[in-house]
Parts: sequence; structure tokens; C-alpha cells
Amino acid sequence: MRTPAGIECPYFYGDYFRGRTTEECRLIGSKPPPAHWTPDLCRTCPVPGIVRANACEHMTLYPVIKKGFSRKKRLVKITAYCSKSKSEVATPEIGCGFCHQEIDLFEEPLE
Ligand code: SF4
Repeated sequence: MRTPAGIECPYFYGDYFRGRTTEECRLIGSKPPPAHWTPDLCRTCPVPGIVRANACEHMTLYPVIKKGFSRKKRLVKITAYCSKSKSEVATPEIGCGFCHQEIDLFEEPLE
């Protein structure tokens, strides 16, 4: 679903049926303030880019809301974990590389 920032995100849910204006982020969920979700977080959130770049089913994203450089703005920071390699993923857009090694094993050498 498209976020208030106009970007497609699988974790955004909006219900506008019959005048309703229910919006939520199903990744951040309903945490108490100051770690609560507000629509402005979608503007700089890295999640839509990560999901577009890497659709790995073994990777789980963990959001943390932090203060930005100006200390007024809040930002979503993401850490990722791969359940297959059982390790933290340093660059979620690329992945941990574990599955890439498996694919290389089955490729025939070019002659
Ligand atoms: S905060 Fe990020 S993960 Fe949550 S709905 Fe907005 S773009 Fe998606």
C-alpha cells in the first residue's frame, strides 16, 4: 500500500473507507511514545527501498526510531537478521550473501 509519503510499502496499512482515516505501520506497530509511529516517518524510512532491492524471505527487519541530526526529527533506523545464515545483515539492500554462495555452487563453469 502507498504510504502518506507516496511510496509503496508492504508494512503500511491505511483504511479510508467511508470517511475513516486509520493509518498504521505494521512493522513499527503500536509502541508507546516517543517510539510511536507517525506518518512523517515514512518520508525518510529506508524500508521501502530495502524491500524493493532485496526480497529475501529469510531476512527480518527490526525498526528502531532514533532522533535525527537536528534532534527534533525522528528517523527510522533498520537492523536486519537472516534466519538462514543466522547472522546480522550489515547491508539489508544487498543481503548477507549466504544464498548467493549456494547459487554459485550449482552454476556450471563457462567453457
Ligand atoms: S515507517 Fe517505514 S515501514 Fe512503516 S509504513 Fe512508513 S515506510 Fe513503511
